[in-house]
Amino acid sequence: MTINCNHPVTSAEFILCQKCGFNQETINDRIDQMGLTAHDKHRIKVLSVEVFQLRSTEIIDKFYDFLLQQKEMKKYIKNDESLTRLKITQSEYLAHFGANFDSLDYFEYRLRIGIAHARIQLPLHLYLAAFTQIQILLQNAVLNSSLGEDSELIADCYASIARIIMLDISLAVDSYNHMTLITLSSSVEKLEHQKDSLTNQLMHDSLTGVLSRAYILDVLHKQLGKKQRDNKFVFSLALIDIDHFKNINDQYGHPVGDQVLQQFCKTVQSAIRQQDYFGRYGGEEFLLMINDADSNNALIQVERIRILIAKQSYKINKHAIQFTISIGFSQAKQNDSVDEFIERVDSALYKAKSAGRNQTVTA
Ligand code: GH3
Ligand code: MG
Ligand code: MG
Repeated sequence: MTINCNHPVTSAEFILCQKCGFNQETINDRIDQMGLTAHDKHRIKVLSVEVFQLRSTEIIDKFYDFLLQQKEMKKYIKNDESLTRLKITQSEYLAHFGANFDSLDYFEYRLRIGIAHARIQLPLHLYLAAFTQIQILLQNAVLNSSLGEDSELIADCYASIARIIMLDISLAVDSYNHMTLITLSSSVEKLEHQKDSLTNQLMHDSLTGVLSRAYILDVLHKQLGKKQRDNKFVFSLALIDIDHFKNINDQYGHPVGDQVLQQFCKTVQSAIRQQDYFGRYGGEEFLLMINDADSNNALIQVERIRILIAKQSYKINKHAIQFTISIGFSQAKQNDSVDEFIERVDSALYKAKSAGRNQTVTA
């Protein structure tokens, strides 16, 4: 079973060798590990001319007879046309069997063929079985040749063939491992991408893009913990509610209301400092957390935002839309829980609404 991979290798880059960690030094190591020597090189060269090439058609026909007997293998050899093509490429393999086995060219070629087999998802055990079959057929060819009389010579030829086959098998396994690595790392990449995108979705409100309720409550929880550990850490919270927002929806429609929420968030976002957190608490209510500012300074910032919004006019679908906001404001206390803190700003907001809206009430 061989796939056409344009042997011999013409690329000077030896990309697969690089990826699989082969240079002349590691190639020499592998050659040593397989027990291959200059003697094998010479032996294979002679066998190639005197036996393999002469008996190439016979060897290849027998090889595919064997493969076609395997049920699992049949789906990789679909019709006569693909069988003919495979036989041609297999005869190329045979023509170059073991030639210059210690070169980068040879390793690159073998790796490329291994990867082509891995790509079509030929199971490794079938690929390895095919190598063993080739080994048997080559050894039989030697036995049936004029060399067949000399048992010492035969044993020597068998050993050289077995070592080359073992080298080819080792490179097939390397190719499969390389493909597995590529597949796994691309799955990891995809999962990381999905994780980032899910985290992003959890962190942000889908309509306005500001922090989500879950995320800002989590930040609030952490900031309170920080305050409880470090007395000097100061921060404040503002619960902001758009006044009469229902009227905007009623007058201009829900989609315009959505755009108002988006524009409003953009305005607030550009008015706050980097260390502050702004998120959607729900509907037309937002939480603004102001860090590292004393109560007075934080209140000044909140008031600046309230006044900025009151002056603002948003042009949406040719409508000039104006509105105000009411704010409940409070500084974090030493033993506040998230619920207590929110309850305090919520009741301050309620007072701001009752007192006529467009104002900040401190609790
Ligand atoms: P108040 O000054 O007392 O806060 O009045 P209000 O109209 O702002 O408050 P109310 O709670 O009566 O109405 C809030 C409205 O906000 C009702 C709801 O349909 C609308 N709303 C909530 N979420 C969205 C949203 O995502 N998009 C739009 N367009 N409207 C929303
Ligand atoms: Mg409102
Ligand atoms: Mg509300």
